[in-house]
Amino acid sequence: MQENFSLKAYNTFGVDAKARYFAAVNSVEELIKTLKFSNAQELPHLFLGGGSNILFTEDFQGLAIQLDLKGISEEFSNENQVLVTAQAGENWHEFVLFCLNKNYGGLENLSLIPGNVGTSPMQNIGAYGTEIKDVFVSCKVLNLETLKVETFDLEKCRFGYRDSIFKQEGKGKFVILEVTFKLTRENHVIKTEYGAIKTELENLGIEKPTIQDISKAVINIRQSKLPNPKVLGNAGSFFKNPTVPLAQFEDLKLKFENIQGYPNGNFVKVPAGWLIEQCGWKGKQIGNVASHKLQSLVIINATGHATGKEIFDFSTMIIESVKEKFGIELEREVNII
Ligand SMILES: Cc1cc2nc3c(=O)[nH]c(=O)nc-3n(C[C@H](O)[C@H](O)[C@H](O)COP(=O)(O)OP(=O)(O)OC[C@H]3O[C@@H](n4cnc5c(N)ncnc54)[C@H](O)[C@@H]3O)c2cc1C
Repeated sequence: MQENFSLKAYNTFGVDAKARYFAAVNSVEELIKTLKFSNAQELPHLFLGGGSNILFTEDFQGLAIQLDLKGISEEFSNENQVLVTAQAGENWHEFVLFCLNKNYGGLENLSLIPGNVGTSPMQNIGAYGTEIKDVFVSCKVLNLETLKVETFDLEKCRFGYRDSIFKQEGKGKFVILEVTFKLTRENHVIKTEYGAIKTELENLGIEKPTIQDISKAVINIRQSKLPNPKVLGNAGSFFKNPTVPLAQFEDLKLKFENIQGYPNGNFVKVPAGWLIEQCGWKGKQIGNVASHKLQSLVIINATGHATGKEIFDFSTMIIESVKEKFGIELEREVNII
């Protein structure tokens, strides 16, 4: 256990917040022991994965727990399916590469997403036409009230767009210990429809892509579009893409004929990046914080010296200007502490 611990290296924004106490745990037993200690001291606790979806707006006056649970196991469930279970502390992209090396399909479109496996169900991570709910079987969690292990299946997780029970009524009540995915062993489903995957495959001269080729294409696209947090502090998309009722979208279309939208039943999903760009934020810097010049949805710690409060205030200004221009209230995707 360490005191007055800097979390700068534990969040991809590179914000220099401090935790009153910090502990790293590498087994469930250690985790339970640590939680019993913090409960006895009446200290609030906070779990740390890769720190790629978190913004510290102030120092954390409690115990920050780094989940270092490691290990991957596999079990063939039928000729074409394997169940792969990874512990919470496994790095997500390394886990994806592990599966690709074994030629297990289903995660390739989710290549290069930062963070850890244990956090992947929190917001049902997604990219390039795939979300983890598509391959999710179950996760084991520790109930923080009873300190007993429980299993959550797909239904119980209530996955939605960048959402799950762990961000809603289950918020702060569970810590995810391990996740099991069902992946294909052959007859892989190749998804090339989303984003620039097809164009990138053409650039690579690939006509009949394998899952490894899809991963390569996704990695190339991501590297060309998104800032590397090791170079420019950020947490990926700062906001969710908002969904508005069809009638509201029709009204907006009369006023803003170029507005983009993806219909889904009686609702339309509107790209948050486009809304932000229309309000003039793309590439704009105020003090230490900026909207990225290639992707306005990404807020960056432009100088490396931004405080979490500055980043939060910058995001509030964006929310206010989008609300004023379009009447749409953006929701933050990043977890604010
Ligand atoms: C450059 C960049 C690109 C990104 N691209 C994408 C993308 O394409 N798609 C996407 O969905 N996301 C994306 N993200 C966001 C982020 O990578 C994911 O949300 C990722 O799952 C966060 O994992 P983490 O381990 O870093 O979470 P952390 O930031 O460590 O934690 C996030 C939240 O979960 C809590 N938490 C952490 N571990 C656990 C646990 N085991 N049990 C319970 N609670 C826990 C934390 O307390 C915190 O509130 C991107 C981020 C960056 C920086």
